[in-house]
Amino acid sequence: MTRDSSDRSGADFFEIRFESIGGLGAHVAGKIVAGAAVLRMNMNGSHFSSYGSEKKGSVVRSFIRLAPADRSIRTSAPIEEPDVIVVFHSGLLAHPATLSGLKADGTLIYAGHENEIPEWLKRVPKSAKVVRVDAQTIAFEEKSRENAVLIGALAAAVPELDRQAVCEELEATFAGKNGHIVESNGRAFKRGADEAEIIENVGRVEGDVPTMQSHPAWGYKSAPIGGVLPTPGNTAYNDLQTSRTGWMPVLARDKCIDCGMCDMVCPDLCLVWSTHVDADGKPGVTLDGIDYQYCKGCMRCVETCSTGAITREAELPGMADELRVPLFPGLAATAGDRHA
Ligand code: SF4
Ligand code: SF4
Repeated sequence: MTRDSSDRSGADFFEIRFESIGGLGAHVAGKIVAGAAVLRMNMNGSHFSSYGSEKKGSVVRSFIRLAPADRSIRTSAPIEEPDVIVVFHSGLLAHPATLSGLKADGTLIYAGHENEIPEWLKRVPKSAKVVRVDAQTIAFEEKSRENAVLIGALAAAVPELDRQAVCEELEATFAGKNGHIVESNGRAFKRGADEAEIIENVGRVEGDVPTMQSHPAWGYKSAPIGGVLPTPGNTAYNDLQTSRTGWMPVLARDKCIDCGMCDMVCPDLCLVWSTHVDADGKPGVTLDGIDYQYCKGCMRCVETCSTGAITREAELPGMADELRVPLFPGLAATAGDRHA
């Protein structure tokens, strides 16, 4: 599938972004508006939401992307440059991301009490339309919810939407519920549409509001090189003793020929060696024992040893501590503290 430039830029889409917090019904409201457009207004549309931690009070964004019937919608990218932003709680205006990308000729609808004009509205484009509706009071008085009031205000403020179609979709959404819910939602919707007021001369921004995108702290250019341990040696404190299941390898020093085969197969490098110079003056190594702090009891060393110098023995209490040869003597106290 190929995407043309309008898929990416949003050109010839009509895009609405709801800025809300969990519990205010933004997702349902978005679904109703998109449903009205697709089912009752002969438009193409898509709707989806993004949630924070999915609990009441966390940020919720709901996206509605609409297009004429002959224009397919093949993107589900979040809406970054909306024609309309609906803010479900005036407190959200304090965060610059709430108004991110609002077009210069766009519309901002916010839930605010009578005469409430947050100073943050200066971030709105001068040429944008700003609408306030007292969603909370109306919802309370009509025993409805803010989302019904706000989609009423939206349907009235935006000529691209058919107010009657949105109202009918609202009714249809709750048709299976108690009749009084449909009626109270209808009243809230009507009051939202009728009582929303245009606020003049609050925006100070020339042109579109710049888009804000949140980026992770590390990207492909800034992430540390993979495979590098910034704190080398930290695994020296690992303790794998609980991985053993009642059996442990035990070295019989008198049978060992220091061939090193056990060390080749041990996945955790728990065999402890020392160096020496033999009678002929040649350097050599001696297997001193096993550090059981790192031994998980896989028994590969036992299977590999050709002389029978390492055998599989039942592990009795205190046996590992007694036979242990520390790989890092400087850590011995730490390992010992483990058993205190
Ligand atoms: S039992 Fe496994 S982990 Fe333990 S010393 Fe032998 S090979 Fe290493
Ligand atoms: S494989 Fe056996 S003989 Fe060889 S070093 Fe290990 S314990 Fe000693």
